[in-house]
Amino acid sequence: MTAPNHALTGAIIGLTVSNPILAIIVAVASHFVCDAIPHFDVPGKTAEDRMRSNFFLRFQIIFGGLLCLLIVLWLALARPHHWQLAVICAFAATIPDLLYVPRYLHVKRNGRDNMNRWWFWRLHNNIQWFQRPIGALVEIVWAGGTVIILSALTRGQ
Ligand SMILES: [Zn+2]
Repeated sequence: MTAPNHALTGAIIGLTVSNPILAIIVAVASHFVCDAIPHFDVPGKTAEDRMRSNFFLRFQIIFGGLLCLLIVLWLALARPHHWQLAVICAFAATIPDLLYVPRYLHVKRNGRDNMNRWWFWRLHNNIQWFQRPIGALVEIVWAGGTVIILSALTRGQ
């Protein structure tokens, strides 16, 4: 899934699971569950094609990163109970995508994907069996649902 949806999911976990260690573990695990659900990615036949495109940089990295910052700002302003844990869990739920940064930079510099260099990149890539532009519909529904839940959690405390 896109980073903001991972962050929203992680924030909800942080506000609902009171044990911090358990919350962080569940948040990281949520990343892989969400990635297994059909989701959006920019057009392109392979991950290499997608990462090479400027649309990927503009949409997935810059726009996605800004939305993640807005989620953190939302939590910091609303200050629900355990809001700091919610911020940590939003980060934890997004971290597997941050581990893609060296792979992304390699594609940008050399034009080639070095996914096979690390088993984790391969695993993370293979979990995402469906990532196409039409997956935006799933992302929109997920974002809508998680924003509603997060609004209720930040208002109710
Ligand atoms: Zn991912």
